[in-house]
Amino acid sequence: MTAVTDAAVDLFRALTGRTPDGVWSAPGRANLIGEHTDYNDGFVLPFAIPQRTVAAVGRRADRRLRVASTFAAEPVEVGLDELDDLFPTAEGATPAVPEWAAYPLGVAWALRRASTAAVSVGLDIAIASEVPVGAGLSSSAAIEGATATALNELWGAGLDSVALARVGRTAENEAVGAPTGIMDQMASMLGEADAALFLDCRSLDAEVVPLGMADAGLSILVMDTGVTHAHATGGYRERRASCERGAATLGVSALRDVSVADLPRAQGLMDELTFRRVRHVVTENQRVQDTVAALRTDGARGIGALLVASHASMRDDFEISTPELDAAVDAALAAGALGARMTGGGFGGAAIALVEEAMVDAVSAAVRARFADSGFAAPHVFPVVPSAGPHRDA
Ligand code: ADP
Ligand code: MG
Repeated sequence: MTAVTDAAVDLFRALTGRTPDGVWSAPGRANLIGEHTDYNDGFVLPFAIPQRTVAAVGRRADRRLRVASTFAAEPVEVGLDELDDLFPTAEGATPAVPEWAAYPLGVAWALRRASTAAVSVGLDIAIASEVPVGAGLSSSAAIEGATATALNELWGAGLDSVALARVGRTAENEAVGAPTGIMDQMASMLGEADAALFLDCRSLDAEVVPLGMADAGLSILVMDTGVTHAHATGGYRERRASCERGAATLGVSALRDVSVADLPRAQGLMDELTFRRVRHVVTENQRVQDTVAALRTDGARGIGALLVASHASMRDDFEISTPELDAAVDAALAAGALGARMTGGGFGGAAIALVEEAMVDAVSAAVRARFADSGFAAPHVFPVVPSAGPHRDA
């Protein structure tokens, strides 16, 4: 058992005085490429990271749900029959329960609706996590995935991984009230070791693309700036609105239906800012497909320039980068990384760099030094190995 598994079990014991019926976990994720394309029905290429969120869960004799987290001072308890009164939460509104509890309770609510099983068993749920929160590594999908996997089994709901990813997204959108796409949940639920997930966010077709990192002698570094983002606030919503405006102007249901060749025509039809937002999404969709093609022909060594181009597009066209993220990317590239880009929704969080295994320490040191020189708080820099999705730990 890992330390985080022990922490979840210890919390469960402290909460209930019992041993859990089972322990389940799900990973956070990093996105290799494809940012803000998910809600435009486009393509993304995320992978699950080794850091996981763990749910220790036990049945109760009554119809109540109690959730506790090592991150929260107090457990939250509600009746199973109250869930439909608590949710949905209007987009942008504050949930009727403490926000963190809206993730696991929202999963319970959405899972009950998605399943045909008659769910009448109350549960105690204790959560611990090693996924950094608000770093763009999707601690939210990890808590949703761990809870959904546990409840699916204990409630006998029988949903498959894609259905559980949808449950997680429903919890995040409708219980928490955060308007996010489905990439994070799919990456957490379907991730595989040493592979990325090529996901079509329109059809939800998902293809596992081997990365062969160790064979290529390469590593992926996460450079967490420590500046936390807030998905539910202005910038994210404003970008979504720009994309919807662009799509409407172009007469398509989503920017997925616009190709790079359409961009010159699009430019004349909309204001300059909307055009730059559109151009990011359209070129990023193309870069995801180019990255998958490069991985298949040349392996991970062939994708560095695409990562760099993706970062430039997010910095200049979509304007979701920050000075810290730019510094991490620039310093990593200057120290010899093959490619680097911010990952996740932006406005803070983490960047990733593709580096020779032998250069992990040198690139990490260069990034830390750049942050110190710039007067930024020390970043958290660590290698990540693309890892497997949810499993039962005990
Ligand atoms: P990210 O997914 O990038 O880490 P989000 O803002 O999407 O950031 O999700 C972070 C939120 O998810 C936290 O503020 C908290 O409400 C909830 N959360 C994540 N992990 C946990 C946890 N282990 N315990 C309680 N709440 C958690
Ligand atoms: Mg999140």
